[in-house]
Amino acid sequence: MYDVIIIGKGPAGMSAALYTVRSNLRTLIIGKNNSNLLKADKIDNYFGFAQTISGKELLHNGEMQVKRLGAELLEDEVITIEKEDFFKVMTSTGSYSCKAILLATGQPHKVIRIENLVKFEGKGVSYCSTCDGFFYNNLKVGVLGNKDFAIHEAKELTTFTKDITIYTNGKQLEISDRYIDELNRFHVDTRKISKLEGSDFLQEIHFADGASDNIDGLFVAYESASSIDFARKLGIVTDRNTIVVDGNQQTNLEGVFAAGDCSSKFRQISVAVGQGAVAGKAISDYIKGL
Ligand SMILES: Cc1cc2nc3c(=O)[nH]c(=O)nc-3n(C[C@H](O)[C@H](O)[C@H](O)COP(=O)(O)OP(=O)(O)OC[C@H]3O[C@@H](n4cnc5c(N)ncnc54)[C@H](O)[C@@H]3O)c2cc1C
Repeated sequence: MYDVIIIGKGPAGMSAALYTVRSNLRTLIIGKNNSNLLKADKIDNYFGFAQTISGKELLHNGEMQVKRLGAELLEDEVITIEKEDFFKVMTSTGSYSCKAILLATGQPHKVIRIENLVKFEGKGVSYCSTCDGFFYNNLKVGVLGNKDFAIHEAKELTTFTKDITIYTNGKQLEISDRYIDELNRFHVDTRKISKLEGSDFLQEIHFADGASDNIDGLFVAYESASSIDFARKLGIVTDRNTIVVDGNQQTNLEGVFAAGDCSSKFRQISVAVGQGAVAGKAISDYIKGL
């Protein structure tokens, strides 16, 4: 059992870890190598560097620092978080328990260009199987996605219906060994989607090849799970694409904190590092209080 699992190994997550490990908390950081910082070639607005530094170098130094101080780092993708007595974090390769969670997953924005997707949100298009699966009992549903997250969502929907199709929207499936055996429970359609159609509610999914399918519901589980996907499942309050936190970076769900681009409207390294520090200190206080 970890004291804290930090999801995201960008500046927010690693800054928080500096405070949790130095408070002797058992800390696991789970993230992929795709921090937004890697896209920043030249950084001149972060304090303490006489010469311009690259995002890659800054991130590398941060990673070395948290490892030296005793944090465990795991390169993996988090698929879902479950709240039991404590928290269970499920990744593409395993499951890990902890007492507190920090969401530091960066910008949640995903671009999905499918005509009428937004129009049918709440009218057949859903972003959360846990929240809405119940409404599709014995109906025909689709899951939009091509990775483990999509398979996980489809698996959750099997409680309600057996007629489930994974729509990859023209992308190749990228499923890890942990989820690959689940795939044969579902139909898979790899065609590019052109648009969604219906009257008041979603009724049809149209493909670029001119064909169409009847459908009752479409669950969006595109790419990896983002902070907003985690928030929906756990019932965490958001404001558009931002997780709502208090002055200690605590969300409305006890034991879950958020920092960095996922909880800030001013998306900068200094803000991510500052929020990470506040969250790290608050998590230490929280664990001591348990
Ligand atoms: C091109 C560009 C240039 C920029 N230049 C500057 C600049 O000059 N100065 C400045 O201050 N800011 C700059 N920024 C902004 C800066 O990069 C961000 O504010 C900062 O990286 C936010 O840190 P973060 O830790 O919140 O998120 P990120 O650095 O984006 O890290 C998010 C982490 O979460 C992980 N993650 C997400 N989902 C999952 C999941 N499901 N499972 C596991 N891990 C997950 C990712 O793999 C990553 O490790 C720039 C951004 C861009 C795109």
